[in-house]
Amino acid sequence: MRIGFLGLGQMGHAMAKNLVEAGHDVTVWNRSPGKADDLVAAGATRAERPVDAAQGDVVMSMLADDAAVEAVVFGDGGIAGAPALHVGHSTISVDLAERLAASGAYVAAPVFGRPPAAQAGKLFVLAAGDPGLVERCVPLFDTIGQRTFRIGAAPATANLVKLSGNFMIMAAVEAMAEAMTLAEKGGVDRHMLLEVLTGTLFGAPVYQTYGTILVEDRFRPAGFAAPLGLKDMTLADAAATRYRAPMPLLGIVRDHLRATIAVEGEDVDWAGAALAVRRGAGL
Ligand code: NAP
Repeated sequence: MRIGFLGLGQMGHAMAKNLVEAGHDVTVWNRSPGKADDLVAAGATRAERPVDAAQGDVVMSMLADDAAVEAVVFGDGGIAGAPALHVGHSTISVDLAERLAASGAYVAAPVFGRPPAAQAGKLFVLAAGDPGLVERCVPLFDTIGQRTFRIGAAPATANLVKLSGNFMIMAAVEAMAEAMTLAEKGGVDRHMLLEVLTGTLFGAPVYQTYGTILVEDRFRPAGFAAPLGLKDMTLADAAATRYRAPMPLLGIVRDHLRATIAVEGEDVDWAGAALAVRRGAGL
């Protein structure tokens, strides 16, 4: 397939690389052009503007936030009105997903999985949109991911699932941070606590992945930067207001992210929200 790929950050670069290696004809664009260099060396074509990457069958985007997606779609040299089907992988607001769907053929396909999963082609893809359009993209989703979920016909529903899931990750981090802080203050090693919990009742991937980050203090380099995590909690809050769904726990995790960014800086992983819990207990 002739594919365009917009956004070569931690996630997008790995996804585009897998598409190039799978033999697709890939045209890449990134705001900072240097991040495309190794992909071009591996056989991709460099686009000067986003629209130049949207002349084939599909154009995939993996950008930081709503502002980035708006710039790349509706801004100068943007892809609005271009022939390729737009497949949006970024974690964006429900409202922007609706605007994108109203402006042309659009499939929402946000993903679960951190950069190592993206590199390994093991993401989980949450796809929503016209079923015919979604099926057209499945071979691409099979290249970047291990499983595709077909969420529904309205693209924004996939973004709502993604935001719900990211809220639950942060809630799990909060719960683990509180339990580890309690155990540690009471003289129990946090490695031991995690071994017991993941070996008994809490064996789910989220506890294993984030529990390991917490016990090993692996907050830098950030696999998912705390400011992007804060962005997602803010988007979840906007959806909660829209749908009149009280989410008191969301307020706690969002504030712990704010506190962590204020103290640690912008380059800390979002799991660093645990540091706000520890600090509150004097650790
Ligand atoms: P990242 O490494 O910070 O990359 C962000 C990308 O967006 C870069 O290509 C950046 O371009 C581009 N960008 C930012 N602002 C822009 C603007 N105004 N105009 C054009 N391009 C702009 O972020 P990431 O970790 O890959 O995350 C990308 C998306 O995936 C986010 O929506 C995130 O929430 C989501 N996500 C991340 C993870 C994870 O674990 N990291 C997992 C699932 C989903 P430059 O290179 O020029 O800065």
